Parts: sequence; structure tokens; C-alpha cells
Amino acid sequence: MRPAEERRRGSHVRDRPRNTLSHRFQRRYPLGMSKPRPIPVWPYQRSGYLKRGRTVADLARKCGIDAGNLQSTVAAFNEHARRGEDPDFHRGETPFNRGSGDPDNPFPNPSLAPLARGPFYAVKVVPGSFGTFAGVVTRASARVLNDADVPIPGLYAVGSDQASVMGGHYPAGGINIGPAMTFGYIAAEHATQSRHAGQPVV
Ligand SMILES: Cc1cc2nc3c(=O)[nH]c(=O)nc-3n(C[C@H](O)[C@H](O)[C@H](O)COP(=O)(O)OP(=O)(O)OC[C@H]3O[C@@H](n4cnc5c(N)ncnc54)[C@H](O)[C@@H]3O)c2cc1C
Repeated sequence: MRPAEERRRGSHVRDRPRNTLSHRFQRRYPLGMSKPRPIPVWPYQRSGYLKRGRTVADLARKCGIDAGNLQSTVAAFNEHARRGEDPDFHRGETPFNRGSGDPDNPFPNPSLAPLARGPFYAVKVVPGSFGTFAGVVTRASARVLNDADVPIPGLYAVGSDQASVMGGHYPAGGINIGPAMTFGYIAAEHATQSRHAGQPVV
């Protein structure tokens, strides 16, 4: 079911946290813990990580979700995927998305292909924390600023604690750890230089 329709019909809590994929996808691409060929698929099924159904309706029954909703969601997804569009989640619209897609995909968008042939699989999606862009504001030296934009003596912030230099955007992989390491280095250098110069670390 599509997000707007989900909200209207109030079924999103039950139906949403699943990713659905075809056998071809599962054998070709990684998804979460499940790995493609030559890693066998059966351990993921046996552990319950992947649910498998011969048809979309069969898969819905195995997941305990509404079969009609899943069938219409897959049908709509397929129709858009053939045209290279994803109006719900906008996959393949950024250069990073497209770079992470499959250049050999015969459909117009390297990040999308229809789920055409069974068997089909579903994986449960559980929310987690990847990182944050909303830490405390610092100077370029990683010194934390107070309300008056003045550095607080001896206080530095990097990583998730530092407001991201990406300004709330995710242009590409590595944008969390890269700045965390860089500003960690800058903060340590600033602190040691201030100490060697006999100055308070500000
Ligand atoms: C699944 C996943 C994949 C990711 N992939 C990437 C990626 O490919 N590229 C990328 O750039 N970023 C990635 N990230 C994001 C990146 O890992 C984080 O943004 C980054 O690790 C944050 O660094 P940090 O030092 O601020 O925090 P953390 O790495 O979380 O370090 C905080 C440390 O503090 C410790 N700690 C917590 N409380 C206390 C306490 N009270 N006393 C002592 N120690 C404490 C914790 O144990 C931890 O070791 C990924 C994140 C996740 C979850």
C-alpha cells in the first residue's frame, strides 16, 4: 500500500515494515543481512529473516499482512518501475542513488526494476539510528559555541555530537565517519597546540 493511502486507511502500522523482493533480486543483490549468489538463501529462510511466498498473495499470508494491499502495492510499484519512476520513495533520483544502482539494469532507472517472477521474499524493517545531523554548533576548530556564539573553553564536539557540515543532507556514503575523523583530528591538534602555547584550551 502506498504511504498516502496507508495513512488514510490507518493500516500503515501493520503493513509497512516489510521490504518485498523477487527471487531474481535476492540472488543478484544484497539486502540487509541476506547476501546474493553464491551465498545460499536457505539459512535466511530457516532463521525467519526472509519470508518466502510462491506468489505475492502467498507471501502476504506468510507475513500476516493483507494480501490485496500487497498485490496492489506491488502492481503499482511495477508499473512505475517499468517507467523508471518511484513516486513514493524517489529511489534513483539523486546521483548517489543512481551510482549505487545496477548499470546493467535494462529498465530506465538503475535503482528500480519490476518484481515480476516469483518466488517472492520479504524482510522485516526495524527502525534504527544511523547518525544525526543535528549536534551542537562548533567553530571550524570543533570548539563548541555557547548561545552568544563564543567558544566554551576546553569543550570540543565531533561525530554525532557536532552539527553536521553537510547541513542536514546526505550527499554520499562516508559523510558521517569522514567528518568525525577529520574534526577529531582538528580538535586534538587544537587542544594540544593551545596547551603547548601555554594558553587555556579554548
Ligand atoms: C548500520 C550503520 C551503518 C553505517 N554506515 C556508515 C558508513 O558507511 N559511512 C559513514 O560515514 N557512516 C556510517 N554510519 C554512521 C556512523 O557509524 C556514525 O555516524 C559514527 O560512528 C558516529 O561516530 P561517533 O564517534 O559520534 O559515535 P559512536 O561511533 O556511536 O561512538 C560513541 C562511543 O561512545 C561510547 N559511549 C556511549 N556512552 C558512553 C558512556 N557513558 N561512557 C563511555 N563511553 C560511552 C559508545 O560505546 C561508542 O563507542 C553507519 C551507522 C550505522 C548504524
